[in-house]
Amino acid sequence: MSLAFDDYGRPYIILRDQGQKKRMKGLEAYKSNILAAKAVANTLQSSLGPKGMDKMLVSPDGDVSVTNDGATIVEKMEIQHPTAKLLVELSQSQDAEIGDGTTGVVVLAGKLLEQALTLLDKGIHPLKISDGFDRACDVAIKHLETISEEIDIQANEHEALIQAACTALGSKVVSKRKRELGKIAVTAVLDVADLARKDVNLDLIKIQTKTGGSVEDTRLISGILIDKDMSHPQMPKEVKEAKICLLTCPFEPPKPKTKHNINISSAEDYKKLYQQEQQYFVDMVKLVKDSGANIALCQWGFDDEANHLLLQNELPAVRWVSGTDVELIAMATGARIIPRFQEITPEKLGKAGSVKEVQFGTSNERMLVIENCQCTKAVTILIRGGSQMIVDEAKRSIHDAICVIRNLIKDNRIVYGGGSAELACSIQVLQYADEVSSVEQYAIRSFADALEGIPCCLADNCGLNPITSVAQAKARQLQESNPRIGIDCMELGTTDMKEQRIYETLSSKKQQIQLATQVVKMILKIDDVIAPDDY
Ligand code: ADP
Repeated sequence: MSLAFDDYGRPYIILRDQGQKKRMKGLEAYKSNILAAKAVANTLQSSLGPKGMDKMLVSPDGDVSVTNDGATIVEKMEIQHPTAKLLVELSQSQDAEIGDGTTGVVVLAGKLLEQALTLLDKGIHPLKISDGFDRACDVAIKHLETISEEIDIQANEHEALIQAACTALGSKVVSKRKRELGKIAVTAVLDVADLARKDVNLDLIKIQTKTGGSVEDTRLISGILIDKDMSHPQMPKEVKEAKICLLTCPFEPPKPKTKHNINISSAEDYKKLYQQEQQYFVDMVKLVKDSGANIALCQWGFDDEANHLLLQNELPAVRWVSGTDVELIAMATGARIIPRFQEITPEKLGKAGSVKEVQFGTSNERMLVIENCQCTKAVTILIRGGSQMIVDEAKRSIHDAICVIRNLIKDNRIVYGGGSAELACSIQVLQYADEVSSVEQYAIRSFADALEGIPCCLADNCGLNPITSVAQAKARQLQESNPRIGIDCMELGTTDMKEQRIYETLSSKKQQIQLATQVVKMILKIDDVIAPDDY
């Protein structure tokens, strides 16, 4: 942009035009895109697996988070490059759909891109590579289904579900407590699950964090826990057979939306105004009480005047309940969210067995638990931990575990982890490559190599020799026709992942391979990049 003056001395601005844009075409564009996306995948590579490293991410305002969760890492990396951003979206869509396997999907995409680069160098057309990958992906997915096994989710006190949760938690910062946390996650999901319809509404599981105590103190609370207390210390600490009035309007006199002035010229007038204001409060409290409610939960605050009146009228109340809590309470107790005092009616009240204040540890901070809700069962997982960083990471990890269990309730098929499923698919794809006589054969073979990259990466991350470990595992899979042989990351003395009970859901593995292939195909189709010069 530059400033110029016309004949009459008037200033005008000259804007840069289209010609100044940076443009990359053909092979240069392919390669630059691949390298940018690969850089993201390389960052995540060291985080894969039970002994994967964690990343520390510092936000511009100094907030620090330590995490092992792929989706969180890429989200907080503030990536600028447009193609690299595709990998961020890849991880996020795995997170949204499946909830787990967010690191694996990016690492696999990185391995596929690495192979694509070599194929491009060999002079193979990107569309042929793309087609080959597509065909290989289909073969891999079909093979995954044949090697998958159904588990009995009820057997042995839901042991299979607990194991699957443990696999998801095993690679996280909280892995020391994976069994306890896994059990909590399983109980929470089963509590709210509709097993007949194979459906789980995850909105009914609230995850509440509270710093203090340690991760072992994390527990499951049957009911909804809200981080609030009664608005007045002298209000009762427990309300039994609660009839809840859920309000989204403030306990205060209405304010006109237009600007206004009131001229008060005498003490009499002032008194009148004051009394009128008082009357508003009295009317509001009366409307709530008349409906039969014995507790009011308010999304807004109210001042001391209202608080005092509520206490006087023996109506316990809670202020500043968050929007998400209001929705959850409405769903679980059957309460209607009431936006105006005039609309309060007895049918709109929610019902719960009790609403009571509870205290944790030695701190005097109190929280409220709403138990035995009338409509649906809702549960809360209260996560404790020494610092905000730990509780945040524990929350992300438990979310992953919950998603795994939900997926197993929907579809109870599993494949084994430790890279065994990828290795089995790689062997199958390699066999298929030999049957293809066109150029795609090279791409299919490269797809098999990329799949092999996952066990390689797992072995590398836990200090084993990747080439030797993968070669041994591959040889045993072929000799014994056993698709469960993987990498013994924890050095337990067996490479059979069934014996180690490393369960992964079939849906997650399938989604990983499909999504990674899709993104790589998309990147391979971009042959022209037009961007501003400073990009
Ligand atoms: P993601 O975010 O993709 O779930 P993780 O860091 O959780 O990534 O790593 C998952 C990978 O680690 C999977 O391939 C899984 O099979 C493997 N894995 C997890 N636990 C073990 C274990 N105890 N032994 C071997 N492999 C494991």
